[in-house]
Amino acid sequence: MSLTRRKLMMQSAAVAALATGKPFAAFAEAPEKAPEQRIKWQNWSGWQSSFPEARLAPANAAEVAEIIASSPKPIRPVGTGHSFTALVPTDGTIMSLDRLTGVLETNEDTLEATVGAGSKLGDLGAPLEERGQALINMPDINRQTLAGSISTSTHGTGEKFGSLSSYVTGLELVTAKGETVWCDKDKQSDLFQAARVSLGSLGIITKIRMQNRTPHRINKRTWVMTFDEMMEQADTFAAENRNFEFYYIPFSSMCMGISHNETEEPLAPAIAQDDDGVMTLKALADYLSWTPSLREYFIRSALEDLPDETFVDTSWKVYPSERAVRFNEMEYHLPRENALTALKEIRALVEGENLDLFFPWEFRYVKSDDIWLSPFQGRESCSIAIHRYYEEDYKPLFSAIEPILQKHGGRPHWGKLHTLKAPDFAKLYPNWNDFGAIRQEMDPDGLFLNAHLREVFGGA
Ligand SMILES: Cc1cc2nc3c(=O)[nH]c(=O)nc-3n(C[C@H](O)[C@H](O)[C@H](O)COP(=O)(O)OP(=O)(O)OC[C@H]3O[C@@H](n4cnc5c(N)ncnc54)[C@H](O)[C@@H]3O)c2cc1C
Repeated sequence: MSLTRRKLMMQSAAVAALATGKPFAAFAEAPEKAPEQRIKWQNWSGWQSSFPEARLAPANAAEVAEIIASSPKPIRPVGTGHSFTALVPTDGTIMSLDRLTGVLETNEDTLEATVGAGSKLGDLGAPLEERGQALINMPDINRQTLAGSISTSTHGTGEKFGSLSSYVTGLELVTAKGETVWCDKDKQSDLFQAARVSLGSLGIITKIRMQNRTPHRINKRTWVMTFDEMMEQADTFAAENRNFEFYYIPFSSMCMGISHNETEEPLAPAIAQDDDGVMTLKALADYLSWTPSLREYFIRSALEDLPDETFVDTSWKVYPSERAVRFNEMEYHLPRENALTALKEIRALVEGENLDLFFPWEFRYVKSDDIWLSPFQGRESCSIAIHRYYEEDYKPLFSAIEPILQKHGGRPHWGKLHTLKAPDFAKLYPNWNDFGAIRQEMDPDGLFLNAHLREVFGGA
């Protein structure tokens, strides 16, 4: 029986669907129509939505400026709507940079590339490779835009690797006044410190220059081990592998480790897997979720037999996976020294109280940086992500777990669900006021602020 990480995610979602008796992998309701017959916008999970007066896709910076000047406010830039928080919804204008894409310029000496801000990560792999470059690290899907990704500090895993924002060496944005501004570490350096993670609150990013590296081949290995073994060895795996992360499968005592390492081995792309593992686990959870000990016994027995899996491919094909099952997600970034303890506490809570939860939890390592609103600013971090099937109300579960993440000094992912507000962020981010000053200067009238951002920034 073989089981990949993706299959495990899918399988767990299937179990969740069965347990709730709800249909699997289909939206429950057709989009509603607003009274004014506007077209509904909704995010990837379907939880966030709004009925904007205008949805526009400018073709260049001049058109961006024109939209800012004349379109209904607030104006919210959108990537591919993969954020779980309400960063995008507005009754005003939603602006997509879908027409500002592609590799615009490369520097073969510095290995930097300037790309259109609306480029999807998955569309950058091949053109960068043709020009002798590759992204240094990637998150676990590639459907997001680069602008959307850096705006929320999207990250992959690896103790030696920062978030995508930390590889930005310059960017262009169109301001509330309609001016096109370039910033980097030498030019408008304060704006650069603010704009690399800015939630679409400083202006519309039109171009991004990334520090890249040469193309490389990656060996990806997936294996299963017990939770206790993983707690002992996780930091060693993080040190010994280029990238390391693991999933904990709730109610199983078992973890799935995933490593990525650079290799010269011949290509051995991932092959299609059979569905035996998925179906076995699905059936186990379906029949046994009422009895945690039996459930653990059977899931564990199924997982213990799984062989290690390995494949080799070019980096941009290896990092991303498919997420066929929709979910809502909460992810906090914790000081590294607290993170394993927090994970153990979450496990004790969820399994001790038999909370209704099936999705594996993801644990990743991220290097520190110096960006003002980066959740990784000034500290080596580990991220803990909890998922909830998209049709289920995530609030009871997330509000039970969130206090543990907060108690251990966690800062939430800007694109993933949380309950923090401006006063909380002011305590968590040393440069909160510096960012606030830049934001006031860039957008004094709040053209880019929707309801969620007013809560995040305190309505200022
Ligand atoms: C299935 C799934 C897997 C994920 N995996 C990961 C992961 O591995 N690691 C991780 O860290 N996160 C992950 N995420 C979260 C995701 O990477 C972030 O939420 C990211 O911001 C989404 O990018 P997007 O293009 O969809 O942007 P959106 O969600 O559309 O927008 C995000 C923010 O960017 C702003 N923005 C977009 N374009 C511009 C622009 N041109 N100028 C200024 N601001 C702009 C928006 O206003 C908003 O504030 C995942 C999400 C999903 C749904």
